[in-house]
Amino acid sequence: MIKAEKIVKTYPSPAGPKTILRSVDFSMAAGEVCAVCGPSGSGKSTLLNILGLIDRPDGGLLHIGGREVSGLAPEEILKFRNEKIGFVFQHHFLIPELCVWRNIAYPGALREGGFSVKLKERAIELLEFLKLGRLAEEFPATLSGGESQRIAAARSVFNAPDILIMDEPTGSLDLDSKSDVINLILALNRVSNITVVIATHDDFIKKSCGRVFDLVPHLQ
Ligand code: ADP
Ligand code: MG
Repeated sequence: MIKAEKIVKTYPSPAGPKTILRSVDFSMAAGEVCAVCGPSGSGKSTLLNILGLIDRPDGGLLHIGGREVSGLAPEEILKFRNEKIGFVFQHHFLIPELCVWRNIAYPGALREGGFSVKLKERAIELLEFLKLGRLAEEFPATLSGGESQRIAAARSVFNAPDILIMDEPTGSLDLDSKSDVINLILALNRVSNITVVIATHDDFIKKSCGRVFDLVPHLQ
C-alpha cells in the first residue's frame, strides 16, 4: 500500500543544511497498523508529512497504492489526498466557524460540493462511536483539547480513506478517550482494511499497533 524507498529530507538551518531523513525505507501492506516511534526531533512528523503528501522529499521514491506519487502535479496531489488519505495533525486544526458535525463532515462536503443530511448522519454516527453525540451542534471554541482531538480523528476518517496518518493524535487524551480513538481506528481497520500510521510516544497506543517502526535520528 505504501512503499517509501531511500527517502531523504534536508532542512536549511543557520549552521548549514541539516539532513533529518537519510535514506529511510518504510513499507506498509494494506490493512497494517504501524506506530512510528523515535525521540523528539528524530523526524517523525517530517516522515508522516511526506507519506501524507503534505511535504515532498528531496530524494527517494514514494509509491502509494501502486502509484509513484512524488512526481504528481499539485492539483493531482490535492485530489489524491482528499480521496485516499486521512491525516490527523498534532494540533487539531478544527475550523472555528463550523459546528462539530460540520467539521467532521467537511471532507465529504469538499468532495460533494456542500453539506447534506446524509453527511450529517454519518458525522453523528462517528461522534456517537466516540460517545460525543451531545457535541454535534457545538463550536470548537467551547470544546476541551481532548474533545477537539477526538473530533479531528473522526474528521480524518470521514471519507473512508485507504490510509490514515496520525501525528501524535492522543497527546492530551486521558486513557478512556485514548481507548475510544484507538477503538474507532481499529474498528475501521477491521471493517474496511484501512492502513494506519501513527507517530506516538504512548505505550498504550504502541501496544495497540501491529507493528512498531523506530526512526533512528540521523542528525548531523
Ligand atoms: P519529530 O516529529 O520526531 O519530533 P520533526 O520531524 O518535527 O521531528 O523534526 C525533525 C527535525 O527537523 C527537528 O530538528 C526540526 O527542528 C527540524 N525541522 C522540522 N521542520 C523544519 C522546517 N520546516 N525547517 C527547518 N527545520 C525543520
Ligand atoms: Mg512531531
